[in-house]
Amino acid sequence: MSKIVFFCIPAHGHTNPTLRVVQELVSRGHQVWYYSYNSMKDKIESAGAEFVSCDNYDMEQKLSPQDGARIGKDLAFSTKILVDTTLALDDKICADMAHLKPDCIVADSMAIWGKAVAMKLGIPFVSSTTTFAFNRHSAKIMKHNTADMVKIIFSLPKISKDIKRLQDKGYPVKSVLDLISNDENTDTIVYTSPQFQPCSDTFSDKYVFVGPSIRPATEKIEKTRDKLVYISMGTVNNDMMPLYKSCIEAFRDSGFQVILSVGNMVSAQVFDTLPENISVFPYVDQIAVLNKADVFISHCGMNSASESLYFGVPLVMLPQTYEQRGVAERILQLGAGVKPDRADSGTICDAVKTVLADSQYKENANKIAEDFRKCTGAKGAADKILSMI
Ligand code: UDP
Repeated sequence: MSKIVFFCIPAHGHTNPTLRVVQELVSRGHQVWYYSYNSMKDKIESAGAEFVSCDNYDMEQKLSPQDGARIGKDLAFSTKILVDTTLALDDKICADMAHLKPDCIVADSMAIWGKAVAMKLGIPFVSSTTTFAFNRHSAKIMKHNTADMVKIIFSLPKISKDIKRLQDKGYPVKSVLDLISNDENTDTIVYTSPQFQPCSDTFSDKYVFVGPSIRPATEKIEKTRDKLVYISMGTVNNDMMPLYKSCIEAFRDSGFQVILSVGNMVSAQVFDTLPENISVFPYVDQIAVLNKADVFISHCGMNSASESLYFGVPLVMLPQTYEQRGVAERILQLGAGVKPDRADSGTICDAVKTVLADSQYKENANKIAEDFRKCTGAKGAADKILSMI
């Protein structure tokens, strides 16, 4: 029996794909500890891991909602939060790992404290990547514009100062790239198919592309109209009232059934005069909804996009971050969705009608679904982790 420790950030999109891997490891008789945050506790424990709370050390939770929205958009700011969290967790994690002596550490690519402690203590390490794997070839799809690049270049001195803070604490980190990306020698699990991952043939055989991890639906959704439009901007930056209002306006008289998931930041009371064909929820069983949906208006978080394609549902894409833009760009390349330039009600309505009118979008989504279904899934990910021991 092996001892395996997972580290993750408090985000459903980064946690969900790992849960089936935890289940798989536990079912094979291994012991799993999972360092995460109280908001994820129940689902982690249900997967069979021993949950260890990092809440007292998390810098992100001390941020204002405005600051929270900068994460993923501002590299220097994100690096500072990640380094602050790593240093806040340093004493606890190092002491725990020295005592536990895990056979392998598995850390989400953003939970850099997991990778940092594995580097510091020389513990076998696997990176868990819920977005596209990143190298100089696949990076091209992220298409930073000139303004983004200028911002990054000007923020490099600030980033270097933060990296120095890690080095001073004994972490063998040379640059921000050591933390946020993996080199050819880092064993890495990527939760997508080799066909959907851009430039997958440019990655070494240390990388395994195991496909998206799709949890079973727990609810049943009733389809009340011929076409069902599902709308969600994910669980992290979903405080987007103007967009939700545009969507309601767009579909008020459309004859489509519309399910809108708005998150907890937006008060449901604002919507009390909804037309009969539109329902608004803070959170839905997205898997159950996608099983029935005809089109998904999405921010293109990697999980939402993968879940949509897994069910052959084409997308209308409104990406907000570099990562989401990369996912949207890949879906555009494969012809499984459209990316409107604006998000006003007329443009959104036209985009949905375009996707519904041309069966190519659905056929292309179905092709990606076939590739996903051929992948090794949680079993492949567990095999990779155990091969390190
Ligand atoms: N999700 C859900 N119900 C909702 C909204 C989101 O189950 O109402 C799930 C969704 O299925 C996905 C995750 O939350 O697994 C969102 O991850 P994604 O990477 O798409 O976006 P993020 O929330 O990280 O921006």
